[in-house]
Amino acid sequence: MTLGHGDGGTRGAGYNADCIFCRIAAGELPADVVASDERFVAFSDVHPVAPVHVLIVPRAHVVSLDETDGLPDDTRAAMLPFVAAVARKTGVARSGYRVIANTGPDSGQEVMHLHWHLLGGRRLGGMA
Ligand code: 5GP
Ligand code: ZN
Repeated sequence: MTLGHGDGGTRGAGYNADCIFCRIAAGELPADVVASDERFVAFSDVHPVAPVHVLIVPRAHVVSLDETDGLPDDTRAAMLPFVAAVARKTGVARSGYRVIANTGPDSGQEVMHLHWHLLGGRRLGGMA
């Protein structure tokens, strides 16, 4: 796995021009990219709620965890290892972190492109 900085990106399979995270992944909208590879892009949340608040998205557009059937098997297999690698790269692997994927209405999901929130850098409290 390479974990370089943003490569500018390209419109890959599954690109959705109406989706802000597809456009960030394609390099068409600015973002503070902290890691990327051929399948995923990780970038800082624009409204961070912790010292480390990174969003990790597959380059391919799928709405949520409920639709990962739409991702290739190798992308699904690589997803959580990539999240863990971003945690190491952002320096929170030892101190600890929380990973959240808001999914559907009750979660309050706002951006309809699957994303993992990686939160760390402070004591996060008791929320599940
Ligand atoms: P959700 O509620 O869908 O799980 O979270 C969406 C997250 O995306 C929010 O934390 C919000 O701050 C973040 N966000 C929304 N639009 C943008 C954007 O254009 N750029 C970045 N970097 N983050 C965004
Ligand atoms: Zn998208």
